Amino acid sequence: MVSRVRAAVMYPGRMETRSFDYPAPEEDEMIVKMHMSGVCGSDKHQFDGHLKVDFPVIPGHENVGEVFETTESASSRMEVHGEPLQKGDRILWYPDISCGTCHYCRFLGTWHSAQCENPFTYGYVNCEKEEFRPWIFGGWSEYTLLRPGTRVWRIPDGMVDEVAVLLDTLASTRAIARAQMPYPNQKEGFGYGDTVVIQGAGPVGLMAAVRAKVLGAESVIMLGAPDWRLKVAEEFGADVTLSLETYDTPEARIAEVKRLTKGIGADLVADCTGIPSAFPEAVEMARKSGYVVEIGAYTDYGPIPFNPWRLVDRDLTVIGQFYCPPMQYEADLKMLKNTMDRFPYRKMLTHIVPLDKAVDAISAHRALRSMKAAITPS
Ligand SMILES: [Zn+2]
Ligand SMILES: [Zn+2]
Repeated sequence: MVSRVRAAVMYPGRMETRSFDYPAPEEDEMIVKMHMSGVCGSDKHQFDGHLKVDFPVIPGHENVGEVFETTESASSRMEVHGEPLQKGDRILWYPDISCGTCHYCRFLGTWHSAQCENPFTYGYVNCEKEEFRPWIFGGWSEYTLLRPGTRVWRIPDGMVDEVAVLLDTLASTRAIARAQMPYPNQKEGFGYGDTVVIQGAGPVGLMAAVRAKVLGAESVIMLGAPDWRLKVAEEFGADVTLSLETYDTPEARIAEVKRLTKGIGADLVADCTGIPSAFPEAVEMARKSGYVVEIGAYTDYGPIPFNPWRLVDRDLTVIGQFYCPPMQYEADLKMLKNTMDRFPYRKMLTHIVPLDKAVDAISAHRALRSMKAAITPS
């Protein structure tokens, strides 16, 4: 009989391990025994105080676990395809439960939008307030309670936890697929045979390269640092890598991208850096009528000088993207499964640490010592 649940609790700038009462699941609820939970760039941002969070929280929104204790109603309804779930089934779930009543839920739909104004989000729930009892709503915990309305997927046979935990990172690059609209074969929008520049060789940059390749990119040029990350990127679809140590000014980087694209520029440039000054560089690297997608700016680092004339002069389309709608998980779980032989996903996960070492995973991320890190709670 489990009676207590150990979890890593985050405060601004510090973590501690605490224990909570193990709750009995109620109608439409399910308890998951956690296998693994990813460390996301946003976890670092919230630890550093750059993301507004209702502290303290049990972090962890990129979650993989197994059904541990479930009610009849949850096991028959919670899986997205309506397949019944049994104790021991390996699952993952979309981290938001939409409110269903805000403007975006009403008009964009809870299955198609990530824009809900008032979502319940695993990994971001205050773990002291009475209204959020029993509090174990983040993946950096031995067990997690899944609330009614959670969208759950069964993990395909043959896909190990270390790959399944990367699904959310892949899903976060969906803006590249959005850039396929409207008419790829008329050179409007990103299409088969195009050249893509990706700024940033972290996990999001690598997944952006994977997505670009799977969608038909002829050539992926990746800019990043340190060099070991670029080396890994070569196994994830980067055809050419440009080191920030060699190309250490914006002018040098833009000139090299231009040279590699016969003076034209790239069809699509994806900023996956999280450094605001990368955006004006992206604009200069894109060809006329090309696309710039902004995936990296996941927290507010403040404004930068920018000349809007450059967007007009170059006739660019810019796509900003906030996270992904739930059904991106459906498509991307298939993409992950169907490309497991093509990309060595397991290699992306360089750090796997236990609960009480969660803070080490954040430090490794900050120092660029890790590619992707994950917590193994039990
Ligand atoms: Zn994330
Ligand atoms: Zn809503």
